[in-house]
This record gives sequence, C-alpha cells and structure tokens, in this order.
Amino acid sequence: MLTLGCHLSASKGFLSMGEEAVSIGANTFQFFTRNPRGFKVKELDTDDCAAFNKYWEEHGGGRIVAHAPYTLNACSADPHIRELAHMIMSDDLMRLEYVSGVYYNFHPGSHVKQGVEVGTDYIVELLNDIIKPEQKTIVLLETMAGKGSEVGRTFEELRAIIDRVEHSDKLGVCLDTCHIFDGGYDIVNDADGVMEQFDKVIGLDRLYAVHLNDSKNTLGSHKDRHELIGEGNIGLDALVSFISRPEIRKLPIVLETPNDIPGYKAEIEMLRNAVSHK
Ligand code: FE
Ligand code: FE
Ligand code: ZN
Repeated sequence: MLTLGCHLSASKGFLSMGEEAVSIGANTFQFFTRNPRGFKVKELDTDDCAAFNKYWEEHGGGRIVAHAPYTLNACSADPHIRELAHMIMSDDLMRLEYVSGVYYNFHPGSHVKQGVEVGTDYIVELLNDIIKPEQKTIVLLETMAGKGSEVGRTFEELRAIIDRVEHSDKLGVCLDTCHIFDGGYDIVNDADGVMEQFDKVIGLDRLYAVHLNDSKNTLGSHKDRHELIGEGNIGLDALVSFISRPEIRKLPIVLETPNDIPGYKAEIEMLRNAVSHK
C-alpha cells in the first residue's frame, strides 16, 4: 500500500493530526512546525508526542514530514535573518526528537543577488552547525521551482550542498513534483530521464519523501503555484505514473494541493485507486 497523505494543520497537536490523517485514509501527513509568519510555536507537549507515537504505530502509519516555516531564509545576506533560521531550525530539531519517524523538510533559501555560491556557503554553514550526529531526524532539502533566486532549482545545486555537509548521513531530499516541473524537469514526457538524472546527480538513496502536486504553470516556468491533482499542466496520468514508479511508491507521498480536508480525502482515495490499477 502507498504511504500517502496530505498537509494538515498542526494547531491541535500531534495526536489530533494522527487521528485526522486516519479519518481520511492517509498513512502519512505533513505539518508546519510553527506559524510561518511570526514563528510562534506551541509549547512542547511530550505527552502529546508520546500519545501520537503510540497511536500512529497502532494504526500502521508511515514516516511523516515536518515542514520548516517557508519564510525562513538560511542564506540571507542579513546575518540576523540567518541567525533566526539557525535558532528556529535547531529548536525544531530538538522538539522533533520526541516524535517517531519524522523527517524535517526545509526550503534551502534565496540568495537574493549574492549568487548561488555564496548562498550555498551559508546553507552549508547552517547545516553543519545544526545537524548533530546523534539526532534521529533526517533533514530534507526540498527541490525548488527556481522562483526568484531560490537555491535548489537544479539537482546539481542540491548536490553541491550535500557534498559539503559533514553529517550528510542525516541529510536527504524531498522531491516536489510541481517544483521540479516548474524548474524544467519534464516528468510528463520523460520521467525516466528525470529520475535517471536525479540518481546520477544526487543518488536515489538520498530521496526520502515526495510532495505530490499538479502545477498551475508550464514546464520550466519557475513559478511554483500548486494545482489540484489532474487540473494542472502535469496532469493525472503523469502523476499516477510517477508515484507508481518502484523508487517512488515506497516513499511517503504528501499532497500539498489547494484543498480542504474533504478534498484531500477524495484525492487520496482517487490516487490509491488509480495506482492499484496500474
Ligand atoms: Fe515546501
Ligand atoms: Fe513542496
Ligand atoms: Zn511549492
């Protein structure tokens, strides 16, 4: 069975998210570690974490994904903004040690006119500071659409980060279908070629999770606007084929489509059905 789910609101805590996921047929989910604006975070509730761990195991849940606030910028030119990313990400990682089987996904950042090399230096510096050899959580770099000056628009840019991180056994990649499509990787007509490329440049062993989204924009548009599954320019067939691939279907797959809970439930059901008929 696919490990398939969607993005959920974290406002009521871990156990609540687990229950909500189960109620819509999901066996994974993603959540923001804190409010993307203002970075407010709930007090760490270790009882809730423990209750979730138990519930999730009992219900056969798979790996889940924590998403760092997308407003962080680990490679800002402003040292205060970099320091904020450092503080928040280390605090998130400390908290996530109480949750079983969780990945920590983040957007590498935007270099804003400093150039991708300088941006990469800052991201590497931050990861070398915050990743501890003893932590359980694997940190994931998300593949980006290349909007503005985003770092991570090519597989090579992600590879350049991974190469220089000391504890890189704790570092992997989360592939976002909308982002790579907008970034110019043609998963509609040449998914084989794209995944060969991924394997050659990054290595399939670094791929830990997938964000499954259709795209409102066209191949190589560098835009990043998610669309409902089947309503965008990637389309249902390509997305179903993509998650049916042997190297993808074993990973946690998370929908980040513009949806409410009933909409997610329907997408999950539809995708499970489509893949089982592949
Ligand atoms: Fe993201
Ligand atoms: Fe994403
Ligand atoms: Zn996106």
